[in-house]
Amino acid sequence: MSNETLQAVRGMNDILPDEAELWLWFEDVVKGWLASYGYRNIRMPLVEPTALFKRAIGEVTDIVEKEMYSFEDSLNGDHLTLRPEGTASCVRAVLQHNLLYNAPQRLYYSGPMFRHERPQKGRYRQFHQIGVEALGFAGPDMDAEQILMCARLWKKLGLTDVTLQINTLGDSACRHRHRAKLIAYFEENLASLDAEATRRLHSNPLRILDSKNPAMQALIEAAPKLMDELNEEALTHFAAVQEILARHGVAFEINSRLVRGLDYYNRTVFEWVTTKLGAQGTICAGGRYDGLVEQIGGKPAPAMGFAMGVERLLVLLQESGMALPKPGVDVYVVHQGELAGKLASTVAEQLRDGNLRVLLHCGGGSFKSQMKKADASCARMAVVIGDDEVAANEVSVKPMQGGAQVRVSVENLTAAVNKLIKQE
Ligand code: ATP
Ligand code: MG
Repeated sequence: MSNETLQAVRGMNDILPDEAELWLWFEDVVKGWLASYGYRNIRMPLVEPTALFKRAIGEVTDIVEKEMYSFEDSLNGDHLTLRPEGTASCVRAVLQHNLLYNAPQRLYYSGPMFRHERPQKGRYRQFHQIGVEALGFAGPDMDAEQILMCARLWKKLGLTDVTLQINTLGDSACRHRHRAKLIAYFEENLASLDAEATRRLHSNPLRILDSKNPAMQALIEAAPKLMDELNEEALTHFAAVQEILARHGVAFEINSRLVRGLDYYNRTVFEWVTTKLGAQGTICAGGRYDGLVEQIGGKPAPAMGFAMGVERLLVLLQESGMALPKPGVDVYVVHQGELAGKLASTVAEQLRDGNLRVLLHCGGGSFKSQMKKADASCARMAVVIGDDEVAANEVSVKPMQGGAQVRVSVENLTAAVNKLIKQE
């Protein structure tokens, strides 16, 4: 057997403790933000039947055609897939458990998603999303609520360099008319299509508009516009969304080329984009998907949702220069001698009873070497216990950022530490 050190799968990252501090802080902010809009948490499995994603996302999409981690269960032959996104699983769970029986639902989930893409900055094979789904809401008020929610989160996080793009995809009748016109248009210009566009011409012509190939941009620019096919209801809905956004002072740009990568969207779609992350500039994306519930086998129900990419958001956050929480504990307890060791563990538990974060030194060593560890731990205080302290039933407290060491009784320790922390 080889002794070579094993590495993580390419594109799948370890999040090490220093970085995880930022994740925890971010997750806390997000939790409070979601609660402030009344969204409730739902947790689905990471693995689903492959058929779910084929049906929900669409066969002719980047995700289903080339990005899914699909495999056959070697024990029973089931066709399974590591989830590439959360909407399909969320709708599946809602239907399976009949959650839409007598009330609409505002839900959110978070966790890893898996896509076999070429790894690069802001694009990984395992990445994390926070997804928000509102099921059973048909009106433009919900579309606006979700966009306003995002705006509030960026504000909470101190992100200023994000802009909003919105579009409407209309309803299925408009999309069918548009699709027919697009096919006719691209057929007339067959020679200008690249291989991918030619392949998609009849299966998913709308996706050709999403092409990043510079050679096709002029052709795409002049293609028939969905805007010209929209019916009265879809236009009214879109106008209402815009009116609410404007009323709340949320700036947006209408991008008629925004079609989103998945088949299930209709009416409002949106993306929050930054110029700071290069080609991976979309940090949050979503839209209305009124047809999906029925497509997955439920009674028809309208729905609207979005997902944000946590890795991309965290990079932006780090670049924004925001003051992030300090790592480390409140107290590091150093001690020498058998009795001091016993008192040290009692004192550590007592401090934790007072909701302080405490590292109890383990593994012996001189006071000097223990103090070095206290320093390295970024603790704010060291509590020092030696024979002298034990004899007096006291401990010494030393502020790590300088300041005089003080002796306090064991009984008064928690109060004394809290007071010193306040004075910092
Ligand atoms: P992109 O156009 O960048 O491939 P997408 O349209 O495939 O994005 P969605 O399926 O809408 O992305 O997912 C929502 C968000 O999840 C994206 O806006 C992005 O922030 C994030 N995301 C998607 N794919 C990845 C990935 N491979 N690595 C990191 N983040 C990702
Ligand atoms: Mg993608």
